Amino acid sequence: MTVLVVGSVALDSVETPFGSADDALGGSATYFAASASHHTKVQLVGVVGSDYPMDKLRVLEGRGVDLAGLEHAEGESFRWRGRYRHDLNSCETLETRLGVFSHFRPKIPAQFKNAKYVFLGNIDPRLQLDVLGQVDKPKLVACDTMNFWIESRRDDLVELIKRVDLITLNDAEARQLTGESNLVVAARWIMARGPKTVVIKKGEHGAFMFHGTQVFFAPAFPLESVFDPTGAGDSFAGGFMGYLAQTDDLSEANMRRAVVVGSTMGSFVVEGFSIARLLEIGPDDIAKRIADFHRLVAFDATSHD
Ligand code: AMP
Repeated sequence: MTVLVVGSVALDSVETPFGSADDALGGSATYFAASASHHTKVQLVGVVGSDYPMDKLRVLEGRGVDLAGLEHAEGESFRWRGRYRHDLNSCETLETRLGVFSHFRPKIPAQFKNAKYVFLGNIDPRLQLDVLGQVDKPKLVACDTMNFWIESRRDDLVELIKRVDLITLNDAEARQLTGESNLVVAARWIMARGPKTVVIKKGEHGAFMFHGTQVFFAPAFPLESVFDPTGAGDSFAGGFMGYLAQTDDLSEANMRRAVVVGSTMGSFVVEGFSIARLLEIGPDDIAKRIADFHRLVAFDATSHD
């Protein structure tokens, strides 16, 4: 099955202790699509300005990403500038310039409306809600968000979460949204408002999936060199949703596997700037890392006595 993603298509400028990039391909939809395309076909809806390097973005088309829903508007593309200091888990946003995003209204092309797997990437929750009114009858709708929208559009966000099956967010965002410091309580707070599943990402400390009464945890893959954490969350979501769409199986066991696929994809993207690593890797790299993941968490639970 195909997965539909609506989100930001950005130009990112990022500083990390290991280097910097200016106006690199970024945005929630871009990372999501690059990651999900390793697992299934992707339909992307977003907007770019007249300054966007389309020649670079078109590489995604060769990977099965349909850009028919990408609007080309007059003006500047969405730009985000962020800095990671020594603690690569926390990012400081230096600048967010909405550009063409400030007048954007997603238009889902007719051929995308019957998507069964829909991911509402990190954008204004009013736009995320708008998309829900345009799709027919998805089997799974998931959304993501970030501090910027929790601060500026909290009411719309709470309205949105009533209408999604699953939400992915990081630990700081979960605390900020719910006002709860304990993540288990925060997940319950969110589930009480609608989503059956809540995935809380904790950067290099892995990800929790709360699903009904069950909790599953996957560590992040222990990497020797993390170059740029930007996009880890969206690449996680791309792997997670891409795998669910590919297998079309929403059983709890399969959702646990999807968390591991998500963590695997997140572990690749942070090895380079922008989506570079996601364009380099292939099925063998992914399969090998999933096997390494399996070894990482496997242990013999038989007691000695
Ligand atoms: P993450 O996967 O959480 O690291 O998300 C990183 C991406 O989010 C970057 O590529 C940014 O372009 C994008 N981004 C940052 N701020 C916003 C925002 N306010 N709305 C939409 N996308 C954003």
